[in-house]
Amino acid sequence: MVEGFLHKTNSKNIKGKTPNNLNIAVGKEMAQDSLNSCVVLREVTKKYGTFRALDNVSFDIKEGEIFGYIGPNGAGKTTTLKILVGLINDFQGEVQIGGYKVPKQKFEAHQLLGYLPQNVAFQEWRTVNHALKTFGKLSGLTDAQVEERIPKILELMSLSEVRHKKISQLSGGMTQKVGLAQALLHDPKLLVMDEPLGGLGPLSRYQLKEIVLKLAKNGTTILFSSHILSDVQDVANRIGILSRGKIKMVGSMNELKSQLSKQKTVEVLLSYVSDKWQKFSSIANVSKVEQPSPGRVLVYLSEDTDEEQVINDIVANIVKLGIRIRRIAMLSPSLDEIYLNYVQKEEKA
Ligand code: ATP
Repeated sequence: MVEGFLHKTNSKNIKGKTPNNLNIAVGKEMAQDSLNSCVVLREVTKKYGTFRALDNVSFDIKEGEIFGYIGPNGAGKTTTLKILVGLINDFQGEVQIGGYKVPKQKFEAHQLLGYLPQNVAFQEWRTVNHALKTFGKLSGLTDAQVEERIPKILELMSLSEVRHKKISQLSGGMTQKVGLAQALLHDPKLLVMDEPLGGLGPLSRYQLKEIVLKLAKNGTTILFSSHILSDVQDVANRIGILSRGKIKMVGSMNELKSQLSKQKTVEVLLSYVSDKWQKFSSIANVSKVEQPSPGRVLVYLSEDTDEEQVINDIVANIVKLGIRIRRIAMLSPSLDEIYLNYVQKEEKA
């Protein structure tokens, strides 16, 4: 029932397919390379005086994608989102939502989006039902539409039981979910959320991430900002890293990892301490071998080496040497290492 409510006309448009009412938009001005993009930013710069809060920011978000926008405090994430949702209009560059230019075609663009601001604020004396009704009407929904949608969206959020409770009686996590319910009332194609998981406990974070995945499965394009890297990794198809107003990298987790110029390294965990590991240095395309701690051996590979071949050779060597091992694996950079590489070095400079 809830599933049916989400994108009735559009329920199959998961990743790569075209939500119909984005592309039938009348009067849209879309660049050829932006087709199938729900959000397009081209060389967007926002200055406060001489300070560039955003400096030539460009990226696309495809329809049906979950895009995690990460960066440290003050990087410019909120500024970007405020431009998209029409709270900042004096910027340079080009912004499109569903093919509509912002701010020129703001009215059409904003009908496509729902926004959950960083600090969602409600009048605490209202009930959840009252608050959602008011927001629904402000979004242009009729009374009948509001009546139909409130129970469905509350069901999606697992909030049905608090419908008639006052906002003041809700926990922080529940209030955040009511904020999300408000952003989704008019069934937007694009959901924009500013630090939606900030300040939430583990259970609320988990629940919100589940909701985000469910929405994306039903075709909603999602853009959310965060500085909590593991949250981004959990749900985002693609990630944009922002630092000091500049885009450092946009890509999937795998693309971000492979862009790191980290030397390829194989980790071998021995079952018992033995000196025989030193023989690995004679294997083709191994540049160095070391044992940073007893039983943990790191085998560094030469550049442009076929890593699978070297792993096979190491395994063959292990068998020949009669060593027992617990594990052998390529070392992959962690999200923290990726973040450090793209952001923190510059932040510390
Ligand atoms: P956070 O994670 O702390 O919310 P953010 O990445 O969202 O940070 P923004 O709020 O977009 O960052 O701010 C980017 C930069 O622009 C910061 O240096 C901030 O101080 C500055 N800034 C934001 N709004 C204004 C304003 N109205 N006037 C002057 N500077 C501003």
